[in-house]
Amino acid sequence: MTNQAKQPCLRVIPLGGLHEIGKNTCVFEYGDDIMLVDAGLAFPSDGMHGVNVVMPDTSYLKENQKRIRGMIVTHGHEDHIGGIAHHLKNFNIPVIHGPRLALAMLTGKMEEAGVMDRTILQTVAPRDVVKVGQHFSVEFIRNTHSMADSFSLAITTPVGTVIFTGDFKFDHTPVDGETFDMARLAHYGEQGVLCLFSDSTNSEVPGFCPPERSVFPCLDRHISQAEGRVIITTFASSIHRVAMILELALKNGRKVGLLGRSMLNVIAKARELGYMRAPDDLFVPIKQIRDLPDRETLLLMTGSQGEPLAALSRISRGEHPQVQVKTTDTIIFSASPIPGNTISVVNTIDRLMMLGAKVVYGKGEGIHVSGHGFQEDQKLMLALTKPKYFVPVHGEHRMLVCHSKTAQSMGIPAENILIIDNGDVVELTPDSINKGEPVKAGIELLDASRNGIVDARVLKERQQLADDGVITMLAVISTDGVMAAPPRVNLRGVVTAADPRKLSLWAEREITWVLENRWQQLSRNSGGKAPDVDWMGVQREIEIGLQRRLRRELQVEPLIICLVQPAPGGTPAYKGRADAEPDTRPAPRGGRGGGRDGGRDVQRGDRPERVERSQQPRRELAAVGAAPAPAPAAAASAAPVATPARVEEPEISGRTRRRRSAAAS
Ligand SMILES: [Zn+2]
Ligand SMILES: [Zn+2]
Repeated sequence: MTNQAKQPCLRVIPLGGLHEIGKNTCVFEYGDDIMLVDAGLAFPSDGMHGVNVVMPDTSYLKENQKRIRGMIVTHGHEDHIGGIAHHLKNFNIPVIHGPRLALAMLTGKMEEAGVMDRTILQTVAPRDVVKVGQHFSVEFIRNTHSMADSFSLAITTPVGTVIFTGDFKFDHTPVDGETFDMARLAHYGEQGVLCLFSDSTNSEVPGFCPPERSVFPCLDRHISQAEGRVIITTFASSIHRVAMILELALKNGRKVGLLGRSMLNVIAKARELGYMRAPDDLFVPIKQIRDLPDRETLLLMTGSQGEPLAALSRISRGEHPQVQVKTTDTIIFSASPIPGNTISVVNTIDRLMMLGAKVVYGKGEGIHVSGHGFQEDQKLMLALTKPKYFVPVHGEHRMLVCHSKTAQSMGIPAENILIIDNGDVVELTPDSINKGEPVKAGIELLDASRNGIVDARVLKERQQLADDGVITMLAVISTDGVMAAPPRVNLRGVVTAADPRKLSLWAEREITWVLENRWQQLSRNSGGKAPDVDWMGVQREIEIGLQRRLRRELQVEPLIICLVQPAPGGTPAYKGRADAEPDTRPAPRGGRGGGRDGGRDVQRGDRPERVERSQQPRRELAAVGAAPAPAPAAAASAAPVATPARVEEPEISGRTRRRRSAAAS
């Protein structure tokens, strides 16, 4: 850790993609130059309510944007290019070098985001070498992966050569005939590789990853045996898979109807650029497909991850305008669910089966293989490149650990291997590898619009809404600090054994407490008639108080929203209920910080309160402001209700979050 002061070093900083699958974003830094490698997105996990896209925190890049010389893209999967259009709005990337297919897909995203003029896109071919800044030169080495036109990188730097594998497997019979340029890897291995950064996705799986071609006969069998229509779902971005399905449709005399925006887009782009060869008359517009006999029909669609809005999910719910399931249909899931999507996938399969279709899915069917190499592929990569140092990337923690064990079994000493996290800094010199001072890393959550950033506070509030619902409270307080009417409390999505009367009693106590103990700090008598009141502060104090009390009394933490309606000074005080006895908590020691914590009150919850269920049993649940404020004297009319625990509007707590298809990384 000491030598970086004397000796210039290469710094490699992943801002995403470690301890996770997704949002791969890596920074290479030497001297004054910064080069980026890929910038992907990830999809939300449970609890990220209403979040559609997860981005890495890019504060580090924003702060250092003057030094960014360019970006390298390895391939076109969402977890590698999905963040670029968004980043271009926030910082400068002068040039992006990448494969033709990836850049074609990126162009679409950039047009949508209106950032086409923010950078220059440079297409590369295999073995092209590009220079980025003064210190980096990058050779694009053709590799094999589930996405066509994919590359590994040989990055030459002043301290040595780094091999950055990108996503890969060794597929010796690739669907498009583009074989892995292993000779080039071996060439660098022979010259001497300082450090290897390698894909760890399948490091726990022994053996070699089967070739993509191996799914061909299995898919062929299911398609040729199908009596009726064939419906297949896969990732649109799995170019090779889609190409094989089109080939099989042709072979089996079936016309193809496409459903789903991404399926149409990707196939159009891939055909235009020559990555798929299929005759035009193979495709039939979906409106005409019902005129064809079932035995001549193949529908290829999105929805392999059970995404609620994707074509197959809508069909499974009987909500698709053009396609309904028939009992003679054979439906094939040619993809495996990404962790987190499993439940929605099995639900979709269940619904399709209940509609009477034959559904083909699961590992045993041979209809899906991964695009990421297994342990033996990873060993081959290590054997070819013979790196001095090794850093496993693109994987969750256990995958990184597993991959490091594989490397050790190949003779790389443990001290030459670093397991890092997002934001960690790998410092490399010709004879050392160290972890430097980490940079800021984390996540940025984007809302459906992809414009609004969902910060931690918003996320916590959404979580509270989903878990415990919301309580709103209306308090009428005069400018001279008296409660002018009983508070009105509303519950939505809150399950509680406490009756509404008790809740409004607690609300009253909190208001009284704040008025008695905090009013002096929150209002300032400016000498005039009306004192200057910090109404936001008053609301906040009441919210905090009620929040603590509910946590203590009921072990729930609903979102609490207090609205204070100021009343003119001199408004007569509402005295509180007969049973709303004064709070006996000690007053704060004074000063602004005084306060809240000393509070402890005497609870009289066991007082017998039985009143007929006659008077507007639900008045306390009416919308805020909908009912006229009860007169102060109407204490008795705020009828206690022996309401059983109930859920208001269950759809709030129901998990209706949209799930998005994650990248077929
Ligand atoms: Zn990936
Ligand atoms: Zn990928």
